[in-house]
Amino acid sequence: MIASEIAAVLKINSNFALSAHINPDGDSLGSMLALYNVLKAMGKNVKVFAGDSLPSNYSYLPGYDSIVNYSEDMDEEFDVFIVVDCGSFDRTGKCSCLSEKSKISINIDHHLTNSLFADYNLVDSNSSAAGELIYQIIKLMGVDIRKEEALCLYTAIFSDTGGFRYSNTTSVTHQIAGDLINTGINFSNIYELIYRNYSLNDVKIMGKALSSIELYSDAKIAYMELLLSDLGDLNLEDVNTSEFIDYARDINTVEVALFVKQVKADEYKLSFRSKNYVDVRKICEKYGGGGHAKAAGCTITGELCDFRDAVIKDLQQALEDGGR
Ligand code: 5GP
Ligand code: MN
Ligand code: MN
Repeated sequence: MIASEIAAVLKINSNFALSAHINPDGDSLGSMLALYNVLKAMGKNVKVFAGDSLPSNYSYLPGYDSIVNYSEDMDEEFDVFIVVDCGSFDRTGKCSCLSEKSKISINIDHHLTNSLFADYNLVDSNSSAAGELIYQIIKLMGVDIRKEEALCLYTAIFSDTGGFRYSNTTSVTHQIAGDLINTGINFSNIYELIYRNYSLNDVKIMGKALSSIELYSDAKIAYMELLLSDLGDLNLEDVNTSEFIDYARDINTVEVALFVKQVKADEYKLSFRSKNYVDVRKICEKYGGGGHAKAAGCTITGELCDFRDAVIKDLQQALEDGGR
């Protein structure tokens, strides 16, 4: 499916439901809200749904307050259900049943792990962010990108490229960012809003996670964990932990970092990052997750002591396979 065909489908339909992946990040929220704002401006009926609670540091995004926590007993039907930045219907959480309540489904994504689950699939793993694809679709619709969409798309691209630092950043990424900046958005404070916006509770929880770091395999693997039993009177509920792993990855000897975050008594969210040659997506797919070669994740149910060593072994094997 090419972007122009999706642009045509968006133009001719009038009733839309939008969603993205659970544990939403800057790309999923920014991409979804850019589409929301542009379709609204075109006079369409648009609902934007989340299957999860939202990180509050993205509350500056236009349309953020319109996001509705989806409930399965909602009976509204739609012409088109658009899923952005998401590899499968399952990853939309509660929103997955919107596919049965819509005539057409569209999947716009940039993950290598994508099951081409919709009627129309635009999946391009060369795009740094789903936001790049949404930018192209809006352009192909022949609609002006206003400040509202620009702020959302800039945020989407900024967050998935780590502020234009990661190797997924291309000249196209910068050209799109330049075009978005030309709309007059206040882009220089976005980094502060997203990443330098901590409460004392956030920083103390980060401290707990950082102090758990252990290194393996000649310090090429960094392992970090955050267990519910570590928290004491700190509150994990509203803490955005997504960038904690960067500190483990940034250790100068490290090629691959793993962050294990306990979310329930028997449920753990694993985040993986690599620098150069380890494909962490392959390891995550083994555990039912996925993502990109250098940033991927999965959820494991069970006891940490039953899978911790096995996952570290997988990382050691991946280092060996990489021949380093
Ligand atoms: P994070 O570690 O920040 O949660 O996720 C890193 C990347 O992997 C993101 O692109 C995210 O969408 C993807 N990812 C994280 N967890 C999962 C998962 O359980 N399944 C799949 N398919 N992708 C995931
Ligand atoms: Mn994402
Ligand atoms: Mn993304």
